[in-house]
Amino acid sequence: MSRTDGKTDAIDVPVTLAATDERRLLGLPACGGMAIGPVYRAVEQPAQITRSKIHAADTQAETARFEAAILQSRRQLLKLRGRLAVLPEESQGEIAPLLDAYLQMLGPSRLVRSARSRIQDRLVSAETAVMEEANAIAHALLGSRADGPTDPAAQSMQRQADEVREIGRRLVRNLTRAPFRSYSTAPLGAVLIAEALRPSDAALIDPARIAGVATEEGGTDGHTAIILRALGVPSVLGTPGLLQGCRTGDTVLVDGTAGIVTLHPSAARLAAAKRAVASYTKQRQQLGRLRRLPAVTLDGEALELQANLELPIEMPLIAQSGASGIGLMRSEFLFMNRDTVPTRDEQATAYRGIVESMAGDPVTIRVLDWGGEKEIEALVAAGIVPEMPDTNPALGLRGIRLLLRRPELFEAQLAAILDAATAGPVRVLLPMVTNVGEVQAVREIYRRVASAMAEQGKRMPTPLPPLGVMIETPGAALAADALAAEADFFAIGTNDLSMYTLAVDRAELDVAHLYDPCHPGILRLIQMTAEAAQRHHIPVSVCGEMAANPSYTPLLIGLGIRSLSTNAPAVPRVKQAIRSTTIDDCQRLTWQVMKQSDPNRTRELLEQFGR
Ligand code: PEP
Ligand code: MG
Repeated sequence: MSRTDGKTDAIDVPVTLAATDERRLLGLPACGGMAIGPVYRAVEQPAQITRSKIHAADTQAETARFEAAILQSRRQLLKLRGRLAVLPEESQGEIAPLLDAYLQMLGPSRLVRSARSRIQDRLVSAETAVMEEANAIAHALLGSRADGPTDPAAQSMQRQADEVREIGRRLVRNLTRAPFRSYSTAPLGAVLIAEALRPSDAALIDPARIAGVATEEGGTDGHTAIILRALGVPSVLGTPGLLQGCRTGDTVLVDGTAGIVTLHPSAARLAAAKRAVASYTKQRQQLGRLRRLPAVTLDGEALELQANLELPIEMPLIAQSGASGIGLMRSEFLFMNRDTVPTRDEQATAYRGIVESMAGDPVTIRVLDWGGEKEIEALVAAGIVPEMPDTNPALGLRGIRLLLRRPELFEAQLAAILDAATAGPVRVLLPMVTNVGEVQAVREIYRRVASAMAEQGKRMPTPLPPLGVMIETPGAALAADALAAEADFFAIGTNDLSMYTLAVDRAELDVAHLYDPCHPGILRLIQMTAEAAQRHHIPVSVCGEMAANPSYTPLLIGLGIRSLSTNAPAVPRVKQAIRSTTIDDCQRLTWQVMKQSDPNRTRELLEQFGR
């Protein structure tokens, strides 16, 4: 059921409630493969309220935080409500009233009114006000319980008390950035089930312990999905109704290729899943044999095939993959899941370790790309980024914009990279560049940092490592000629390029069907970028998720791309695609594709080509 774009047709996959208690739920395929294991529910740890009192002068700001948390909670619940339609009617009937009750409590309810007054009259923080009020309401409800726990009236009170506490917890979670999750208590081979996983949560997953992942929220090209693919953990995200009736210890199947989660699988389904696991293992072993073979087309053109690195835990996978270097090291991992910003020395040690273990293969280090869905608590704690996101974080102070605003942060990272660059070939990559002024400003800072280090007697690589830019907005692609005159290389980030070109949030389930790298607009922008790079004689690669899908490989080659960087598990599959084609055939395919206006027709052409 998997399509070449990694998406699944909702209509084709039946969501069934079988005669047994088997439940099959349709989600988005985020990382291929099959996992079978006991459910491990990733429950948020109780949010820690570190600030209880506020100053009188801060009541307005605190009330504004509270209102923002209400809005965010409403948005989350409305999203869940909107997705119920894909569930069987029985399940819809169970869940809808609950969500309605939650939504009502976020309206002009006692909880909201009284929490607001607590902030203003008692000068307590928004999270304290919410917790105190939710507990007060729950106590009042339970205190009014006249009869035993089996009495229907008592049960109803208990339910209402649970509901008010639950909505209180959601508000506090949205107010406080919940602490990091730990999965160390999960049994070996468990399947992690959660409402949502942030990228920083996914970064804590140990693939040796967690066999699979399924969540209610999330999209296929968000950073959570990217990290799960990097770890090679079969995953299905965006699965409505998942948490309903899913208990710790239950057996669950996660079919990350088809995007289906099966709860309480029948014996026949379980047997088929076991066969699928064996076949994936065999497939991986076969692909593993490609490791030492070059990424060369049938007519002898050598391509550069590198790996993306999100987390240091991937280093052995990269070594096994046969990648010829790291084409994109996302440095965000160094800043995640910690309370403080890493020092220059800490960063230098981490980068140097990676460069050294690549033993002469190049490493492209991308400087910090904060923003959008990449939340980094340490930056909030250090006051570098605001606690409340911008009204539109994807269009705000992302990537290079933040670094140019906070030179101390940027200079420390550049110095750390320059330090590591004496250990092996390194390139520096700038995220979210939209104009030449940014590249010029960066180059000035880069030279200044290098000169200061040289003056301090530090050994400097000469020449300085190349400075490249990510092409990930339509503006950057359309101005590729101008940027090519300033940059030493390009890396095309098709994830953000698709998001910004199509105005579709890459992690947003509701519009996931519109997120399509086969859209003719995206293909033209890639082609324009590749042509501009050729005109200016600078290297260009693709390092977004499009590079990891082997059915796109011939098309990217036809568009003029000769360098790809993918998650490590995808390297052998992409290498196989490169080794099975000729440049001429790729160009003919691309010529055909570029005449299409319908992305579905493009996909058909790609599928036919692959046969
Ligand atoms: C991209 O946008 O395609 C990219 C590679 O960067 P990231 O996924 O980290 O935003
Ligand atoms: Mg990006």
